[in-house]
Amino acid sequence: MKTVIIGGVAGGASAAARLRRLDEKAEIIMFERGEFISFANCGLPYHVGNVIPERSSLLVVTPKMFRARTEIDVRTRQEVTAINREAKTVTVHNLDSGDRYEETYDKLVLATGSTPIRPPLPGIDDPDVMQLWSIPDMDRIKAHVDKGAKRAVVVGAGFIGLEVAENLRERGVDVDLVELMPQVLPTLDVEMARPLGIELEREGVRLHLGRKVVSFHRQGGADASQQTSSSVTVKLDDDTELETDFVVLSIGVRPNSELAGEAGLALSARGGIVVDEHLCTADPDVFAVGDAISVKDLVTGEPAQIPLAGPANRQGRTVADNLCGRKSTYKGSLGTAIVKVASLAAGSVGQTEQRLKAARLPYRKLYLHPATHATYYPGACQIAMKLLYADDGRILGVQAVGHDGIDKRIDVIATAMRNNLTVRDLAELELSYAPPFGSAKDAVNFAGMAASNALDGLSDVVHADDLPSDAVLLDVREAAEVAAGKVPGALHIPLGQLRSRLDELPKDQQIVAYCKVGIRGYLAERILKENGFNAANMSGGMMTWDMLQTPPAAASPSTSGQPAAPATEDDFNTRHSIDVTALQCPGPVVRLGKEIEKLAVGEVLKVHGNAPFRSDLEAWCGSMGHTVLKAESSGKTFEAWVRKEEVCALRNGLTAPPNDTATIVMFSNDLDKVMAAFIIATGLSSLGTKVTMFFTFWGLNVLRRDPAPTVRKDILSRMFGWMMPRGARKLALSKMHMLGMGTGMMKHVMAKKNVASLPELIQEARELGVRFIACDMAMDVMGIQREELLEQVDEVAGVANFAALTKDGGTTLFI
Ligand code: FAD
Repeated sequence: MKTVIIGGVAGGASAAARLRRLDEKAEIIMFERGEFISFANCGLPYHVGNVIPERSSLLVVTPKMFRARTEIDVRTRQEVTAINREAKTVTVHNLDSGDRYEETYDKLVLATGSTPIRPPLPGIDDPDVMQLWSIPDMDRIKAHVDKGAKRAVVVGAGFIGLEVAENLRERGVDVDLVELMPQVLPTLDVEMARPLGIELEREGVRLHLGRKVVSFHRQGGADASQQTSSSVTVKLDDDTELETDFVVLSIGVRPNSELAGEAGLALSARGGIVVDEHLCTADPDVFAVGDAISVKDLVTGEPAQIPLAGPANRQGRTVADNLCGRKSTYKGSLGTAIVKVASLAAGSVGQTEQRLKAARLPYRKLYLHPATHATYYPGACQIAMKLLYADDGRILGVQAVGHDGIDKRIDVIATAMRNNLTVRDLAELELSYAPPFGSAKDAVNFAGMAASNALDGLSDVVHADDLPSDAVLLDVREAAEVAAGKVPGALHIPLGQLRSRLDELPKDQQIVAYCKVGIRGYLAERILKENGFNAANMSGGMMTWDMLQTPPAAASPSTSGQPAAPATEDDFNTRHSIDVTALQCPGPVVRLGKEIEKLAVGEVLKVHGNAPFRSDLEAWCGSMGHTVLKAESSGKTFEAWVRKEEVCALRNGLTAPPNDTATIVMFSNDLDKVMAAFIIATGLSSLGTKVTMFFTFWGLNVLRRDPAPTVRKDILSRMFGWMMPRGARKLALSKMHMLGMGTGMMKHVMAKKNVASLPELIQEARELGVRFIACDMAMDVMGIQREELLEQVDEVAGVANFAALTKDGGTTLFI
């Protein structure tokens, strides 16, 4: 049997190689109009950026090697110009000699790929308006950069445009990225793409979103052969003119299906060659694969163009099987894709919300921000995930953006979708786990559990872009987190206080709880529901709310209201630095506040943190009025230089504490309650609030020294002393103490999760300037003397002192 294959890269070369493996005797001819076969087109942008330094690495196999290994007749620089189905021949044009000839076939495979779109805009034929699709394209772009080109305009912010922009930045080129849609990577929903836009801007790429190129213009004319100026002007539809050394156009592709169309084979509405499950056209002797064909979208069942390397390679294999009599089917595509954008990765599979809406298909959605791996193991980062699913639990699509672990989650869910698993199955998947790699409940399990909860009515999910207008918003995060921003108008009750403050909430209105990522919001929703409230959870919490907000205008380095003084070289050589990479939330922000407190105005602190903390740091500095002089991401971490400023203005829209004092009455000596009190005290204090802790009755035990000094006491006082816990190390949990086992376990877990111990928190509070006052009346009743208390106690005072503190004070907490 004689098989002719047109196209010698992903689909064509895969089909040819498999065919040879299955049939030693088959006669196989592969025509390729280009010079190269089977090259790594996906690697092209990375050679431009010198990330793949050797050009030869992209040439996976040369025609000569391919011929030698497979005995396939590889004919490069030979273009098939027509198919004659009746005669079963193809017409071939030898691009080197100019000869034309006919070649017969028994079976024909069309693997002609696709072509980048070049709209008929004025000036588009200028040789410096390029594209990246082939090795020669790559060579041309790279040569420009190698010769010193300093400015580029990339048109189109899809996968290839983003990769080109990133790699040009890698080479130090100034990049303007123009995109017609109001977002980068339009294959994601707009909010999911937002972190990518922010990341690109951080990398120095100037974004022009929602803008259309109207013309390319070279001074003295656009005649390619007579370049009179070294720069091209790219004009946008808002009259912006971008002067550049060269342009890379990447605005989409169209299938190379003309040959098939002219031969009378059916094409889809979008121009893809129509094939059946065996990848056979209506002509039983003609098969087609890759970017050129129309595939079935496995979610909608509709025809789709999905120009990706994975499907093309697998389709090549399927066709070879069918040609050799092995019945093999290609059922359709999910469009599973991933792209790297500086330190982030963005992946997706299935449909987006935008596309489901356009197709008028019903869907439910969920946002999650699970950690890449156990949070107590260094380097854990959050993944922003969006899950789309149907009422019957069918998975319709997933998008994920983050610093790590995106490929794993997208691929697991793609596998689940391919096998018709539901969100309930995701909850049950048994996935590999050890702290450096994942969590005992992986992000994928979490997504399944959250969706199952919603389907079962355990959680009513509302979304930040569609909040019920008459609902009460309830922020259940800690004060330190709220200070960096909250939803305007939201009430604030930290989760730990919710049960005791239920009477502050209305029963006749819906309460939408939210936290940072959605977990505490869900816990609050459950507490409220169990107590008879009409409650819901804002999916994805504050992180999703932020993603859904319109991006702020280009950030100025200072948010203090004063123009920031320029940074000097000394600022970046500061001797003050902290590393908060191993600290748990809200540890990093607390530590930052503490260290800034120690600095003199004008001094600079260098902060090394995990990537997700960067936006918290910037928000915190914005709200406190300090200046982020510079922030640089490097993989999963970042470094920032923060200058302490005199003015501490609060960012617009953020709610500051009503005034800057807080008093905490420490009545309890339960370990958990005392811990919570000190976390609140240090959190508030790090944000500039003057905090006083007033210890009374059992709370005095927190301050007792251990071992106790010898003091003279009556028998009753001595008995009290024996019965009560002596100092912070001896306190027990209010619940589940279990003869010390529960308390021990809790301390162990806290240590593992890098939560500071109580003695450390007390020390931290002191260093932050929290005042400790011991109640003299309670000391008297309980027979405790001043010498028995920690040296750090500032004062022994009575209720009058407490009254003075609270009279003009802001917050008063009774614990
Ligand atoms: P191609 O691999 O494009 O091969 C088609 C070949 O047919 C071409 O070489 C063409 O010259 C030849 N041909 C066409 N007509 C004729 C004719 N009449 N006669 C002779 N020869 C002909 N996909 C991913 O999944 N992940 C990625 O990260 C990724 N990155 C990419 C980066 C870049 C820069 C590019 C250009 C593409 C990328 N892709 C990626 C897409 C992926 O490469 C394509 O989907 C895949 O190559 C399609 O395979 P194909 O065989 O259909 O077409």
